[in-house]
Amino acid sequence: MRHLLARPAWALGVLALLVAVVPIFFGNFAVSLMNDMGIASLVALGLVLLTGIGGATSFGQAAFVGIAAYATAWLTTSMGLSPWLGLPFALTLTGLSALLIGLLTLRLGGHFLPLSTIAWGLSIAMLFGNVDALGRHTGLSNIPALTLGSWSLADPRAIYYLIWSLVGLAFWFSYNLLNSRPGRAIRSLRGGAILLASVGASAYHVRLTLFLTAALLAGLAGWLYAHMNRFVSPSPFDVRASIEYLLMAVSGGLGHIAGALVGAALVLVMKNGLQDVLPLLTQRAGQLEAVTFAVLFILILHYARGGMMGFVRRWMGAGVTSSGNPSASTRPPVAPLAQRSMPQRGTPLLEVKSAVKRFGGLVAVNDVSFEVNSGEIVGLIGPNGAGKSTMFNLLTCTAPMTSGQVHFLGHDISQMSQREVARLGLARTFQHVKLRPHMSLLDNVALGAYARTHVGVLRAGLRLDRVQEQQVLQEAQRQLDRIGLGERAHEEAGSLPLGTQRILEIARALAADPLLLVLDEPAAGLRRKEKMALGQLLKKLRDEGVTILIVEHDMEFVMTLVDRLVVMNFGAKLVEGEPAAVRADERVQSAYLGSVV
Ligand code: ADP
Ligand code: MG
Repeated sequence: MRHLLARPAWALGVLALLVAVVPIFFGNFAVSLMNDMGIASLVALGLVLLTGIGGATSFGQAAFVGIAAYATAWLTTSMGLSPWLGLPFALTLTGLSALLIGLLTLRLGGHFLPLSTIAWGLSIAMLFGNVDALGRHTGLSNIPALTLGSWSLADPRAIYYLIWSLVGLAFWFSYNLLNSRPGRAIRSLRGGAILLASVGASAYHVRLTLFLTAALLAGLAGWLYAHMNRFVSPSPFDVRASIEYLLMAVSGGLGHIAGALVGAALVLVMKNGLQDVLPLLTQRAGQLEAVTFAVLFILILHYARGGMMGFVRRWMGAGVTSSGNPSASTRPPVAPLAQRSMPQRGTPLLEVKSAVKRFGGLVAVNDVSFEVNSGEIVGLIGPNGAGKSTMFNLLTCTAPMTSGQVHFLGHDISQMSQREVARLGLARTFQHVKLRPHMSLLDNVALGAYARTHVGVLRAGLRLDRVQEQQVLQEAQRQLDRIGLGERAHEEAGSLPLGTQRILEIARALAADPLLLVLDEPAAGLRRKEKMALGQLLKKLRDEGVTILIVEHDMEFVMTLVDRLVVMNFGAKLVEGEPAAVRADERVQSAYLGSVV
């Protein structure tokens, strides 16, 4: 059983079969409960994607269900149009409202999104209750049932198959989405905006499309809800309902899309059970139900962060992760991704002219100029506090310059965003490694190739991206082979030691097909052997034509590696030259001696 279920295709087949036979063997009550579960699981699925995987909490998901439900209810009752027209209408309205609140709130970080979704959830439910056209608190009734030709789906058994087909489609779509270009970006959102910008992606756009996707899933649920229940009123769409959806996602397991299904089943079965049992115990059953759910919520957060799916995955031996598609790399090769044309060896790639950066009264970078030419390794070194990291941030457009210029391939990049300069071909690594620990090595590296294809959410979800996806994975595998980690492509990145993680970041940077690779203190925190391995890799890359700028504190590490050194001290350029000459220079020696190395 365990081995059987560990194979997703088998597990899915068994599940689909079980779902399909429910109406044959069970009564109306069970079928209706399953219908509710299916609809709720769509909303919870959106929340697993948005909150669990994307890291943005929404307390307003029921409001999106409500907008769609009311939209189709109004269109079909007041306008007398077909419920099938209600679907695009409902999704359009839901999408537009999600876009609007996304635009208003997603740029605000931290707690603003959850807070604003609460406000949003409250006001939408209030709106439903106070608009005459929407039936105020009594709601809208006599909503027509769905029909397929002359077959009416009014019966719970009839709409059952529509609901569960749509649930199947939605889960298939989400699974595809997560294993694609936009999906890798979604799974990297928790790594921060700077990580995404470094591969040419905008965290804001990724979060906005994710928010929209989750809202549309809720919208689909709302449309089904309206035509199944044939009646809508404000209360099923209020903040309390939103919290219930969130509870489903959390109890099922936020880390896995299957958690949405498990959680919806768990919460609805419990709720039904409580509604039977609680009235026997007390007259205030409704309040006790809320308390019970609150307690459950707290228990889960304390003892089972992974939800039910967390237990399932432990039981199955953790081998099944949502990341990566192990068979992908064994498929027949496809055409490689297009590459940039490399400038001739020796042409100036990067020109820094009189760069100045002030922090208030402190001049962290003071009139520094230097160049990096194609095909060379340049080291930017200096004692602690010399201004190297600040210089690094100016080059990669992570921080704005006070004055001066940086030209990259002839473009003035001093006013550009980090994302734009990444797309021009300047790839970076991080001093404090920014990998996605639970993603496979392959997926981490594939994220680096983000800007090299243009697949969006819709194409990814519908699996129309298979050629590009295969190209990206093939490129990621090639870069992993290049750095000597090809064999470990499907392991989790978090399982690697620090030194190897640094090297993996280099592979991610290389996957962007960069013209210049800028490394921030790559040797920091590494043991001797790891440093030597890193040094050898960088030399190999240089021999293959990669241009590298290393910002480094450790002078010994760079001495045998680089073609040229630029030494900074107190924010200014001290000397520039070949390693031997720099080492012999008295000013450099005293600068290093005078500092706490
Ligand atoms: P290095 O990387 O060579 O050790 P940094 O570039 O980190 O040096 O720092 C250079 C100087 O600028 C230091 O004196 C540091 O305290 C100051 N500095 C760096 N970043 C900031 C900041 N964000 N705000 C204020 N001062 C800063
Ligand atoms: Mg530094």
